[in-house]
Amino acid sequence: MDIKFCTQCGGSVQQTIPHPDNHARYICSQCGFIHYQNPNVVTGCLVHKNDKVLLCKRSIEPRHGLWTVPAGFMENGESTRVAAQRETTEEAGANINIKDLFVLANLTHANQVYMLYRAELIDDNFQPGHESSDVKLFDQDQIPWDNIAFYTVKLALEKFFSDYPKGQFSLHEIDF
Ligand SMILES: [Zn+2]
Repeated sequence: MDIKFCTQCGGSVQQTIPHPDNHARYICSQCGFIHYQNPNVVTGCLVHKNDKVLLCKRSIEPRHGLWTVPAGFMENGESTRVAAQRETTEEAGANINIKDLFVLANLTHANQVYMLYRAELIDDNFQPGHESSDVKLFDQDQIPWDNIAFYTVKLALEKFFSDYPKGQFSLHEIDF
């Protein structure tokens, strides 16, 4: 993301490589503040009831109308598990038991790290939150494969359905 003004003093910034760094940074020409930019962490849950997976239909941009798993950006002060649980409550209203980390994806082109936990649905009391227009359980054949919002989510679903029959889930580390 481009930065035009210093977040500390409002001065103008210049992109230069500070010594002994090796990345270009936005540095304030007035107060010298260095604006570091680092990847954002997206956490969420692949929620399932036996072999059925819970998906949310997005009611916001980007990818409005497409299906995804409950996930979003971590807030400061949260652990990844707490953030994944919060996103699932907010977007799917679902009661879950979070299990192990299931997908760790590095989206280097988007400067994002995706961390999806596998979670088991406790009951059927789920409903769409403010960022979803629908929440449904799908088995493998019913999944709207052509209308999945994000490639990472599609990949996570494929991994789930290949692991599920084995009765064992492994961590899938994926670099894009
Ligand atoms: Zn400044």
